[in-house]
Amino acid sequence: MYPVRPLDLAHLLAEPLLLGRGLGAWDTGHDAFLALRLLEGENGLPVDPGLPRPPVARVLARTLAALRMAGVPPERLDALTAAAAFPLDRDRLRALGLLYRRFVEAVEGRLADPATVLRAASERLDDAAWLHDAQVFVVASLELDPLERDFLAALSRAVRVRVLEGENAPLLRAGSFETWAAAHGIAPVSWAETPLAPIAPPPAPPALLRLRTRLFSPPEGPPLRGGSVELLTAPGEAAEVRSIVRRLLREAARGVPFEEMGVILPRPDAYAALFTDLLERIEVPFRLHPSLPLRTGRAARSLLLLLRCRGLPRAAVMEFLSFAPVAYGGILGEGAVPTVASWEEASRHAGVTAGVERWRSGLASYARTKRREVEREESDVRRAAAGRRAAEAEALGRVVEKLAATLDDLSGEAPWPEWSSRLSRAFGRWVGPERDREAVTRVIADVASLGRVAAQAPWDQVENVLEARLEWERLPMDPPVKGGVHVGALDAMAGLPFRVVAIPGLVEGGYPGPIRTDAFLLDAEREALNAGAPPVTKAGPVQRQLSLFDEAPTLHGLPTTQDRLLETRRLFHRAVSQATEHLILSYPRADPRSGRERLPSLFFVSAASTLEGRPLDMAALAPHLTEDDVRSLDLLEAVDSSERDRARLLRGGAEAALAVAAGAPFFKGSLLAADARWRPQLSAYDGLVELDPDLARDLDPVAAGRTLSATRLRTYADCGFQYLLQSLLRLEPVEEPEDRMGLDPMERGSVFHEAAERFLRERRERGELPVRDTPALGARLVEIAEESLARLVEGSPPRHRLLWDMERARLHDLLAKWLAREAASARGTPAHFEVGFGIPRDPESDEPHSREPLEIDLGDGRVLRVSGKIDRIDTGLDGSLIVRDYKTGRAPKDDGALFRGGRQLQIPFYVKAASMLFPGRRVSEAFLDYVDGGRLVGFDPLLATGEDFVALLRDLVAAMGSGLFIQDAAACRFCDFTRVCGPQPLVAARQARKRRDPRASRLFRLKETR
Ligand code: SF4
Repeated sequence: MYPVRPLDLAHLLAEPLLLGRGLGAWDTGHDAFLALRLLEGENGLPVDPGLPRPPVARVLARTLAALRMAGVPPERLDALTAAAAFPLDRDRLRALGLLYRRFVEAVEGRLADPATVLRAASERLDDAAWLHDAQVFVVASLELDPLERDFLAALSRAVRVRVLEGENAPLLRAGSFETWAAAHGIAPVSWAETPLAPIAPPPAPPALLRLRTRLFSPPEGPPLRGGSVELLTAPGEAAEVRSIVRRLLREAARGVPFEEMGVILPRPDAYAALFTDLLERIEVPFRLHPSLPLRTGRAARSLLLLLRCRGLPRAAVMEFLSFAPVAYGGILGEGAVPTVASWEEASRHAGVTAGVERWRSGLASYARTKRREVEREESDVRRAAAGRRAAEAEALGRVVEKLAATLDDLSGEAPWPEWSSRLSRAFGRWVGPERDREAVTRVIADVASLGRVAAQAPWDQVENVLEARLEWERLPMDPPVKGGVHVGALDAMAGLPFRVVAIPGLVEGGYPGPIRTDAFLLDAEREALNAGAPPVTKAGPVQRQLSLFDEAPTLHGLPTTQDRLLETRRLFHRAVSQATEHLILSYPRADPRSGRERLPSLFFVSAASTLEGRPLDMAALAPHLTEDDVRSLDLLEAVDSSERDRARLLRGGAEAALAVAAGAPFFKGSLLAADARWRPQLSAYDGLVELDPDLARDLDPVAAGRTLSATRLRTYADCGFQYLLQSLLRLEPVEEPEDRMGLDPMERGSVFHEAAERFLRERRERGELPVRDTPALGARLVEIAEESLARLVEGSPPRHRLLWDMERARLHDLLAKWLAREAASARGTPAHFEVGFGIPRDPESDEPHSREPLEIDLGDGRVLRVSGKIDRIDTGLDGSLIVRDYKTGRAPKDDGALFRGGRQLQIPFYVKAASMLFPGRRVSEAFLDYVDGGRLVGFDPLLATGEDFVALLRDLVAAMGSGLFIQDAAACRFCDFTRVCGPQPLVAARQARKRRDPRASRLFRLKETR
């Protein structure tokens, strides 16, 4: 006994004949490829030239294949064209006729496509001696193309063919295979009369029997509730899967072997992974029948990701390298340890965006920087880390070079067999062993056979064919598991009876999904073509839309939208009929993303109405639905730990939460964080650092004997949490090189600082001070700024041209206005720039400098040591000093506040540092110079020596020492750590609660110091 599909049997019969004629093998990529080639030629098809060709070709391929499988000769399309009423339709049909004729010419006599195979098989039937005494039994509910039906009809004339009896619903009969078979003399036979009697399905219980015989018919009869059919719903798809699996486990407990349970998936793309993940997790054996496209397998996906690396965009390359099972031994050399996670970081630091040159220069320069660090670093740990980073960048460079060579090999134009061997080389090099590897290797080998259709092909055609094949072919089944639950798509599971069947995902818009009209050949035109070959039963009036209980039209040659909708009904009926004891139909009642309510599909409602014996609307359906309530769930019935924990929490409240947390570290962390963050007391989750006294001493810069930079102290005054992340934990924001489009505010500020300093220093050296605003000097200032800009972007990815040009123009304008203000100012003459204290001397600078930090007696026997760099010191008309600190960005409201709670701390330090660096000279003025708006915010130098300033410092340092590094929402706007802290309003809401803690309220009061 041989189980075969009609097309497989046709292949067995036709192969000797076709091989004798020298025809090439046909595979699934051929029609899409042919359609693509035909679209490229002159054809007159009214298609928007802007539409990408491959998807259009795929739709066209379906139309051409359907015409061919319906046995429509090209001349019939000519007649249809001539009869078209409107010029637009005529143009479309004429073009389609031309394309179809060319398609047929390309196939006939060259390739053994399914139409050729089926015709040849019909011719060969009398010669197949091995078939002469055979009996053929056809499993009911086949869905066949017209030429397949013709082949079966021919087969029935040569040998005894009978259809195994099954129940069918009256309204599905008209268009069904059984009706067609009866009309062609293929008689039905009961299982009992065949050698298949021992495996005949048992009689179905009443509810299942009614579904088999009355589904999609006007409902009638008494309600049949409970027992063999369950109508299930759940809040979302994951909960739906859990509820079904719970029922399978109950069935197993009642003695049904897993092997006799089937989960039939109308939407395998959405549900297959949910089922297999859960079953695997709870260690229930299962067998996933080929249901998903081959492209979802790891080897196939790796190959597609490899092809997406063309042009070497950083994100695509990193995705490929981190996903694909690459055997790096062959690429980096035996024994090399690939560090893919570090490559991501290296490529980002190297500023790579795309292109082999950018990869080369970026990685080489990054590796050089790290090698220099190795030479300079004093700490062994840091030296080793820098060496490691350099080696990682160099290894990544080697990998990318090889990747670029592979992609170069896959470009240009070549004969198809040559493409097959190049692809095979690339696949072999980059994709290691995976369970779908063999299937992908076969697809690649098949590419060579396209040499019969065209001698040469450019790479993009090869890629299209490959994608079409990987989409079409199914992911192979895992090695069979003994005694596992069967899971698979409708067609993959067809014909297999199970004691228990579950069909999930019966939601409106999900299954049946939308069925669209063919854009190349409309329904009315298909019907007209079909009319040339009269249907097997009398056709009813033309229907535009089927309602739930409409009678099915007859079986057509070329399927219309109606036919395809009917086919979907028959497939659902077939799946329902596969259950012999228990059927579970289910749908998710809410959208997992939006939370919006979803309705059951028409099929689900139809099944419920059939069982109830009357049409049901949503309100009438509700009492018949079952849903698992986690609150009342028996804990022993929870299918996994997350469900069990949820049930415990919902029932046991806070006490249960603590019990769950005891065994779940992640949940415990989140529970503690949520609780602590909303309590009025400060906690570790708000930036309160509580360490043992020895470690705590390190937090206090005075006790630790550390020199603190003025800028860092100001950061602390802005937001203690930012200081903790940046200065103590040394976190840095990660910026994708691709994200740098224009010039960000920080970069603009640093370019301005550098340009202003160089320009003024140059004027000073040339004796051109005080500065004048002349066209020549303006041009020189712009020239210096351009040099700074060039240095800034050197070796980094190109910026967005438009944004970059806008930012440059903005910088030029800023400089021009600044120069005009400088020239007009009568305050004093620029004298010194970038004057450092408490930091190493810049060897290229001859400005005044102090290696020693500023020391400030805090008055409690402790001394704070501060370092920094003063932007500029001018000499006033009376010889006194004027201190300036440049600021870019908007100036704050000039409300007379001086300290602003420490947020302007730099300026009093600079006043004190200037006095230290220039003993005997008075600091007469100090400013924050907001260059954007041209505003000076003054600071009274005397305040730097006052007790208020010292008291403020004392309190800030004490707050640091007591571990207060708390968040301040007022500083979030320009902070890089918003991803760590969350949205500003959330930080502000929590901050408002924390103010009730005396430690927090003290610190916030301090920040209000004016
Ligand atoms: S995001 Fe806001 S709260 Fe968080 S560190 Fe930055 S400034 Fe502070």
